[in-house]
Amino acid sequence: MTANAVRSAFSASLGSCREHESELGQLDSVAGDGDHGSGMVRGFTAACSAITGLEEADSALITAAGTAFADAAGGASGALWGVFVQTIGKALGEGAITPSRVVVALRSGEAEIERIGKSKPGDKTMLDTLVPFLDELHGLVSRGSTLSEAWTGALVVAREATAATSKMVAKRGRSAVLGERSLGTVDPGARSLLCVLEAVLPVISSEGTERP
Ligand code: ADP
Ligand code: MG
Repeated sequence: MTANAVRSAFSASLGSCREHESELGQLDSVAGDGDHGSGMVRGFTAACSAITGLEEADSALITAAGTAFADAAGGASGALWGVFVQTIGKALGEGAITPSRVVVALRSGEAEIERIGKSKPGDKTMLDTLVPFLDELHGLVSRGSTLSEAWTGALVVAREATAATSKMVAKRGRSAVLGERSLGTVDPGARSLLCVLEAVLPVISSEGTERP
């Protein structure tokens, strides 16, 4: 990856969150406070500004983007996304970014969300998209897929998993207070995570075909 690819990934994520801002807000207004779309746009706007013109290694860029996200976004998801992105940056470390290292870094980010959020799959959160996505990504990478191939395959699973959150009752975050009311609606955090995973695919695909 190059610094420009990292910047492209964050700006594609911002673009997707902007495009889906009102949908995310509506999903969050069912059992939450309706601010999820605006929070994600604020977070990615700050992340993009923080890394514009910053000449650092990829991992340091990602960590800086995560810090800016956490400071700007607010809400539970702002803190959790901030920690997620920061952890990915730190876990990537120095050197060439291989598909296996991407999987390990994303897994570390997921573990931090679970630790800080005291949440687990099934609680109707962003983890219900992230964990099935990562399980599939890991499987495909370990069977020799390129990152682009694996990401494409894992997105199929992530879309189904996101839709399936509508059958869950929220057990974490603000929506847990009105838990039952969330039944029948996709979790906003799961939906925004899917938006980001979809948005970065073209960037990953343009980054070559290295195998694990
Ligand atoms: P807030 O609830 O503070 O208004 P947002 O509306 O921006 O924050 O984000 C809500 C989303 O954050 C939820 O849909 C869920 O996916 C995610 N979320 C909230 N709390 C947790 C948690 N403890 N662990 C994991 N994800 C969480
Ligand atoms: Mg909210």
